[in-house]
Amino acid sequence: MGRFKPIRQFRVSEAVLSQLKDSILLGKFKSGEKLPSERELTEEFQVSRGVIREAIRALEITGFVRLRQGPTGGAFVTDLSFDHVGNAFLDLFMANKVSIPELANVRYYIEPEVARLAALNATIEDKNRLIEAQKAEFLSVTTTAARITQFQRVHHVIAEACQNHFYEAISNSMLRLTFEVVEAVDPDHEALHMPGEHKHIIDAVISANAKAAQAAMQIHMEKFCENLLEMETAYRQKTLMADKRAKLRRRKYV
Ligand SMILES: [Zn+2]
Repeated sequence: MGRFKPIRQFRVSEAVLSQLKDSILLGKFKSGEKLPSERELTEEFQVSRGVIREAIRALEITGFVRLRQGPTGGAFVTDLSFDHVGNAFLDLFMANKVSIPELANVRYYIEPEVARLAALNATIEDKNRLIEAQKAEFLSVTTTAARITQFQRVHHVIAEACQNHFYEAISNSMLRLTFEVVEAVDPDHEALHMPGEHKHIIDAVISANAKAAQAAMQIHMEKFCENLLEMETAYRQKTLMADKRAKLRRRKYV
């Protein structure tokens, strides 16, 4: 008993999972939409509730849906484009398959190009968001996580404004890994990143000066990535605890 998985049941739930995944990927269920209820799916697929539950659980684990409890709850489709790339990189990073020097190197080369594109493509709305994000850097916050979020906002807006979804996904993933490292190490924040440090980048993006935006981001990355590299040893020591890894993997990021 308990040595083997019941094959038939397993295959049925895999088949259900595959169909549900396909309908999400084909856009039949869009980001934020709720999947049909457990009862409806049971009837449509003509399988047991257990099979449906197993498939939904697998969708949740792989980041396709988020479950919400309560009378208006259910399985809600997540925004696939970024969650997936981010989760994959995060897993590789946690498994020590991506290092901090590699992360710093990618940010160093990609972010100036992202800033250049943002200067060419930013909308009025993006520009207003940049101004807001810059103002928010000066607000006082109490937690390390809130402080990192505060400084990353400008980078997220620039990534979105660059109008290239690959760059946006890569930038957001790198920001997420950076969040992990900085939060775990909790360094002297004043030395790491000062409020207003993005000013030249923001000014250049707002005035649509692509060259200046690229140069300003390059200077910012030179300093920041150097600090990031210095955190490597401290980070690896602090994340030795296995339970911490599990906790971090589950947490949601902004
Ligand atoms: Zn920054």
